[in-house]
Amino acid sequence: MFDAPSALSRNNSWQGEFKSRRKNLEPYWGQLSISKVFNDQRELTHYIGIYEDITQAKLAQQRIERLAYTDNLTNLGNRPAFIRALDDRFCRDGEAPIALMLVDIDNFKRINDSLGHQTGDKLLISLARRLRNSLSASGTLARFASNEFAVLLDATDPEAAQQTAMQVLKTLDKPMFVDSQLINVTASVGLACAPLHGHDPQTLMKNAGLALHKAKANGKHQVQVFTETLHAEANYKLFVENNLRRALTQNELEVFYQPKICLRSGRLLGMEALLRWNHPERGMIRPDQFISVAEETGLIIPIGKWVIRQACRMSKCLSTAGLGDLSVAINLSPKQFSDPDLVASVRTIMEEEQLPAHLLELELTEGLLLEATEDTRQLLSQLKGLGLSLAMDDFGTGYSSLSYLKKFPIDVLKIDRSFISEIPSNPDDMEITSAVIAMAHNLKLKVVAEGIETAEQLTFLRRHRCDVGQGYLFDKPIPSTELISALARYPRGPEHT
Ligand code: C2E
Ligand code: MG
Ligand code: MG
Repeated sequence: MFDAPSALSRNNSWQGEFKSRRKNLEPYWGQLSISKVFNDQRELTHYIGIYEDITQAKLAQQRIERLAYTDNLTNLGNRPAFIRALDDRFCRDGEAPIALMLVDIDNFKRINDSLGHQTGDKLLISLARRLRNSLSASGTLARFASNEFAVLLDATDPEAAQQTAMQVLKTLDKPMFVDSQLINVTASVGLACAPLHGHDPQTLMKNAGLALHKAKANGKHQVQVFTETLHAEANYKLFVENNLRRALTQNELEVFYQPKICLRSGRLLGMEALLRWNHPERGMIRPDQFISVAEETGLIIPIGKWVIRQACRMSKCLSTAGLGDLSVAINLSPKQFSDPDLVASVRTIMEEEQLPAHLLELELTEGLLLEATEDTRQLLSQLKGLGLSLAMDDFGTGYSSLSYLKKFPIDVLKIDRSFISEIPSNPDDMEITSAVIAMAHNLKLKVVAEGIETAEQLTFLRRHRCDVGQGYLFDKPIPSTELISALARYPRGPEHT
């Protein structure tokens, strides 16, 4: 409106909008067009003004904006609103310090599944309110995804931002009363601060996301500040994701075998199949550097079947080579239990490779048993029904409950290497190891000790009647091409354990 006179001094017309208030203080908007009128001598004689009330159109536009930028459950800003606020902040304040916090409610799906979506929604509303109250007025808060909130803190250095993030965690920790139920929730927070962790909105957002991912991967319920190593980890993960599929088809995967020895007689009983990835440029990659990505991408299912086939074939091949009946133990990831074909494929592979079932052992993780559903229980019984045996791997690293071993058809317990490695220097580990062996024997389980590296450890385990041993003292995992000659040096003969 105010630029009309100067515009009209240069041009023959002007058009503009203005906002004002009526007497009753209601806002209204108008659109005004002004045109100059000239006579035949080209002298300015009149101005013609056309006024239009555009209040309704403006109010409708505001409503649409509000809908587009508001999360209608919590009434907070939504993701586009947050991104707009972040962009504005960078445009306006450049390199001024700000902090971006992504707050993710842990295990929200479980809450939703068990208590229902309505209760889940109410919980989110309460959480949003708590978050709002815990932040200073200067913070921008938005609902970023279903159970994720984003917070933008102004003029905050990394230390202060971390303090605020810890405070947010504490606030969310307190139990909530929703639909007459007391619900305990926890959250994970990823934090990135500008300009230290990013000079533009996209980088800051990506880095806060990486930090959040790390907080979740590290066990949730914690604040993780972005660090450069997270970048390296994310890049490595991307490399694995992009290359692992090809690894299976291009024969880059290999199975190594580590002998398992009867501790009473010193005889060779069998071996454990351990996966390796022989990458053309990076060389031999160990499983803990790619199994988790294989699990996340679902590739563990075809890879796992491939390992079972290779291992069954190897056991058969060793028997044909005159090394006798040697059992083979294969590690199964919990993710493989989501494959409806698991039992059928194990059966088919054993049949096709002509491996007697009693020579096959499947190693399970504690996590699988801990979170076992009725389906898992049935799958374990069906696997057991094929005639093979089931082992509990890495015992002692998780919840170590002997009681759930009774509930599942487990035959073998493998004591984790971390206990064996501290024998004889750590009396606690010696106590635990001997107690676990005795209790496992009471439950009629066979006990395997992993990671035996010294003669003293071997003596201790023999004294406590541990059944089977495995470790560098006997052999490291052996490539398949060297296996027959490596195993030939072990005493053979009938077994009595
Ligand atoms: P695990 O099943 O507990 O296997 C034992 C690990 O300890 C192996 O590491 C083995 O090389 C190592 N080890 C054995 N004896 C000694 C010793 O005396 N000293 C030391 N320092 N280490 C010893 P590896 O081969 O790197 O495998 C790591 C883990 O990866 C395995 O732990 C298993 O959980 C997983 N894994 C291996 N192969 C497969 C597979 O085919 N499928 C799945 N899902 N997981 C696998
Ligand atoms: Mg194992
Ligand atoms: Mg183990």
